[in-house]
Parts: sequence; C-alpha cells; structure tokens
Amino acid sequence: MATTKETKVKPKAAAAKNLQDLFEDALKDIYWAEKALVKALPKMEKNATSKLLKNAITGHLAETKEHVVRLEEAFKSIGVKAEAVKCDAMAGLLEEGEGIMEETEVGAVRDAGIIAASQKVEHYEIATYGTIAAFAKVLGHQEALKILLKTLKEEKACDEKLTDIADTNLNSKAE
Ligand code: FE
Ligand code: FE
Repeated sequence: MATTKETKVKPKAAAAKNLQDLFEDALKDIYWAEKALVKALPKMEKNATSKLLKNAITGHLAETKEHVVRLEEAFKSIGVKAEAVKCDAMAGLLEEGEGIMEETEVGAVRDAGIIAASQKVEHYEIATYGTIAAFAKVLGHQEALKILLKTLKEEKACDEKLTDIADTNLNSKAE
C-alpha cells in the first residue's frame, strides 16, 4: 500500500464519550434535518409538475411534520430536552436539491430531478433512522425505539413511492 499518513482525528472537548452521547447527538441532528425538510418540501412541491409527484410530496410533508413531533416524544422518553443541531449532510442534500431545480426546465425533466433529490434525502433518513433505532435498542430505550421504527417505515414507503413515480411516469417522459 502507498504511504498512508495516520490521521486519527482529535476529539473536541464536548465529544461523545459513549453510545448514549452519540445517540443523543444523532437525535439532535435528525431533529434539525426533519425541521429543515418541513421548510424545504413546499418549494419542491411547487416546482413539481406531475400531479402524482405533487401529491406524494404533500403527503410526505404531513408525515414529516409528524416526524418532528415524534422526535420530540423520543427526546422526552429519554429525559433529554429536544434540541436541533445543524445537520451538515441534510443541509448539503437540500442545497443540491435547490441546484437541481435551477438547472432544469419546468416539467418532466425538473420532476425527474426533484425525484432524484428527494430519494437522496429519503435514503439519508433511512440510513439515519436505521442506525439510531439500532442504538436505541442496544441502549434499552424501548419507547424511543418504537417511535423511531414507526418513522423509519414511513421513510421507506416514501422512497418506494418515489421509485414507482419515477418508473411509471417520469423517466420515459424525461428522455
Ligand atoms: Fe422524515
Ligand atoms: Fe422523509
């Protein structure tokens, strides 16, 4: 192997010391992300043309508002104050979504771009909820686990719906 320099990152003073800390940090991250989505989804809906896509986004906006409330319940169940900490990953995904809208003509092509951006968001959420649900399980937070799995299920369903919309409607038209 070529020369690999050792790059062990030095932890900050407030770094997570155990899985519980990491779990709480992750909750704060996804709490920020869900709130950011509540703000971002209406614009995506307005920029979509397909009725199917518009409905899917509107439906998921309602679910996303529920995800915010559920996270507040999860915080409460572990006796931690709900707090949002900027999630750089979601901020980046939403920025990319904005870029895609600017770079596409309104219609089937922009719809295809919106679906692509939305699926990246959903995949990020699926990865996150899958991970923090696993943390909750190991830590014995049964109530939080139940709440997180409920949301995870909805993120997966949303992703599948977007795949269907892309397959049946947009990909052919966008060519
Ligand atoms: Fe969500
Ligand atoms: Fe989602």
